[in-house]
Formats: sequence, C-alpha cells, structure tokens
Amino acid sequence: MTHSSSPPLRLRFAPSPTGYLHIGGARTALFCWLWARKQQGAFVLRIEDTDQARNTPESLSAIIDSMRWLGLDWDEGPEVGGDHGPYFQSKRRELYREYAERLIRTGHAYRCYATREELDEARERHKATGSRDPFRYPGIWRDRSDHPPDKPYVVRFKSPQSGSTGWVDKVKGRIDVPNNTQQDFVILRSDGLPLYNFACVVDDMLMGINLVARGDDHVVNTAPQILIYEALGKPVPEFAHVPMILAPNGEKLSKRHAAVSVLEYRDAGYLPDGVVNYLARLGWSHGDQEIFTREQLLTHFDWAQVGRNPARYDAKKFTHVQGEHLRMQSPEQVATQSLPFLASRELHVDAQHPSLVPAITAVLTRATTLAEVAEGIDYVFRDPPELDPKAARKFLIPAKASLLRALKTIVEEAPSFDAATLESRVNDWLAQDNLPLKEIAQPARVALTGRTRSPGLYELMLMLGRDTVLKRLSAGAEHAERNDGNDAS
Ligand code: GLU
Repeated sequence: MTHSSSPPLRLRFAPSPTGYLHIGGARTALFCWLWARKQQGAFVLRIEDTDQARNTPESLSAIIDSMRWLGLDWDEGPEVGGDHGPYFQSKRRELYREYAERLIRTGHAYRCYATREELDEARERHKATGSRDPFRYPGIWRDRSDHPPDKPYVVRFKSPQSGSTGWVDKVKGRIDVPNNTQQDFVILRSDGLPLYNFACVVDDMLMGINLVARGDDHVVNTAPQILIYEALGKPVPEFAHVPMILAPNGEKLSKRHAAVSVLEYRDAGYLPDGVVNYLARLGWSHGDQEIFTREQLLTHFDWAQVGRNPARYDAKKFTHVQGEHLRMQSPEQVATQSLPFLASRELHVDAQHPSLVPAITAVLTRATTLAEVAEGIDYVFRDPPELDPKAARKFLIPAKASLLRALKTIVEEAPSFDAATLESRVNDWLAQDNLPLKEIAQPARVALTGRTRSPGLYELMLMLGRDTVLKRLSAGAEHAERNDGNDAS
C-alpha cells in the first residue's frame, strides 16, 4: 500500500509509434500496469512520436488496439485525456524549448554552433590519435560566449566531468556510472526537436512520473537522464529496468523465432489473459506457479521477483499457458469468443445455435486457441462438411456403402433421437449381423464430419441433429459407392 504521506505512484508506458506493439513492449506495459493497479497509482500512456520520419498512424492504432485488447487500460493519455497532456511528444515542442532555455540560463546547457564539417574534423583527429575510446564531442562551445547571432545551433547538456551518477534500480540493484563517460549530449536539435533523453525527462517530470519502468536497453540512458533532473533541480524518479526477451537460442527475439506483434496473437485466437499470463512469466516468477489469473497477477506482482537475466521465449510454454486459460472459460464464453473465428472461415453462426455450446464442449479439452476451436467445430456448421480426402479414400469405400445406409435406416426408424435409444438400436443391429463397432464407427464419423477425429458417435449425432445426420449418412453412402480408391474428392 502507498504510504499516505508519499505522493501517489505514477508510471507510464512510452512507446514510439514506429511499428506494431511487440511482446517485449507489451510486457513492459504489463509490468507498469500491474504495479500501478496494485498500488492504486496512475498508469499513463505517452506517445513518443518525435521521429517524424518513422512514425505512422497505423502503428499508433496498432499500439492502442494492442493495449486495449490486452486489457491494459490507461488513466491518462490518448483517447482518455488527463491533466498532464498533451500526451503526444509532437505536441509538446514548446515545453522542450522552454526547459532547454531554462537549462541554458542556469548554466547547465549551452548553444553549440559547431558545423558538421567541424565535427567531422574533430572525429578524424580523434581517430588519428589511435584511441580506442569512442569519439566524444570535444566541448568546442562549452565555455564560449561569442555566440553568432543568426547561425543554427543545437543545445547541448553540460555534463559534469567528475563524480558519478547512480541509482538503485528496482530490478538490477545499485548502478553507478562515472560522469566522465558522459559527453555533452545534444538535448535540442537545430530544428527545435528534442532528443529522446531530454524529452523523456521533461515529460516524466511534468507528468509527475515517480517510477520509470522500461526495457533494460535503456539503462545507458538513465545516468544522463538523472543528470538532467538534477540540473533542473527536480526530484529523480525511481527506475526499474526489465531484462530483454530473447529467442530460445539466445539471439535477440525477432520474427524469425516467434510472432512478435501482440495483434498476431489476437488474430491467432489467443486470449488476452493467456498472453498477459505468459508475458508476466517471461522474466517474473512467483514460486513455480505458471498459471495466473489477472487477479492473481495483481496480487502477487512485485519488482523484487523480476529476474535480472534475460528471459527466453518458449512457444510451447506459451501455448500451454494459453490452453489453460481457454479451459478456464465456460463453453458459453468460448462460444461467444469463437464467433469471429468461425466468421473468418465463412461460417456465420448464430450465437444461440443449439449445436454451438455442445460442439465447443466437445473440443475444449484439446484446443488451445479460439482459432483451433473454430477449426475443430467447422464440420458442425459447414454443409456439406469439408471432406479430408485421405479419410474418404480409406473409409468411404464401396464395401461400407450398405453399412452407412443401414445405419441411416436405424436412425430414421429409431422411436426417438437420443443417445441411449440410438446406441441400443445400433448395438442390436451389430450383434445381429455379428459386426464389430469399428466396422461402422469410422466410416460413419467420416461421413458425418469429413474427418477421422470427432467426439463419440452418439454425442456427435446429437450435436448435428437428426436431419443433418440422415443427410450426411446418405451422402457418405453415395460417396462410398463411387469410391474406386483413387478418388480424392
Ligand atoms: N520511446 C521509448 C521506447 O520506445 C521509451 C523509453 C522509455 O520508456 O523511457 O523505447
């Protein structure tokens, strides 16, 4: 719980709209959201759109859609507003200029008029010394006051040259960086656009962010950012840097290894809670528990259990976690969620269709995603069902035609269409003709579903309904009659 005298916790997620929301970004957003919700703090969404060449409206919508789909709602930001806006960096240019001017006035930043040529020359001179140190801006304008009136300039931060800057990271522990490793970095370009480190600090400061949680690729930015807070005389937030997600082979995770965009998981029929659960477990643990509801994550999440080492993406584990979440839903819930996946197979099924819930119940133990559910129950709603050519070649053969017809007659003549009646009638017939069930079960299954795997015969018949069963058995018999063994149709 937040102590009553400390300010309420405020976290933000600050994506750049230059691509889809990938699972690494989504996990950062999730950790921020979990902590904000757990601590009854605020979760802010800020769009870092200063890279005008790479921003696209499509990526902004993809980010927003992904966050909404995952259920990571934000208290302030695009679409919801708030008291600390605008929440797009592109709309905050005046603020960056104002704070850059303030740093210049207080002697913490200066205008640098060095031309590209001068900087290139300095770089060449550095190279010529044979030094292995990276080139650093040599402070050409650091202490000059002979500013030319009309020449373009950038604003550089006057980094301290001694001492060190450090913080206690909520994930990584104490980190200290010697100040003499910092150069006088640019904070404002000559066109007035801010550089990331500066814009980030101005925004986090003005938005009252007191815990900055992000990927650990940003650890290198933290000391410069702290220096800017200090120069502005503002309190430094806490930091939590979350290790990267790597591919199973230890490479940087990319499209080659996994679906990296959150929306791909949505489109493949994962459930938001399944994705949230797996993302949480990538880099965070609570004993050896794997399956968490959102509420359990909210109860247990803590930075102390975020690992310091990179996490490895494991597709099998992801599928397992997702399947468990699918099975936590009632068949009725899955029915509603499956409708769009059926629709994308051109099956426009009414939510009240009497076969829907029974069909889902029958596949729920095996399926892991909504797309698999839809695939698994496709034959119930597609008429005629799609026939697996291999199954047809093997089971819908001339020798089975009369058996399928006999079965059809039994169903037709049964006094009532229920499992017990059908089963006893079929059993009588089999006993009389001395036939094992398997003689008829597979051909019937292929005739009724087009496939060799399905629920039990009587369960299946009830699911399809009497008329459909009769129709499919006769179609199956006809197909069997025509089947010369080469028929692939
Ligand atoms: N826009 C930065 C990114 O997408 C945000 C970094 C931060 O959270 O400070 O990596």
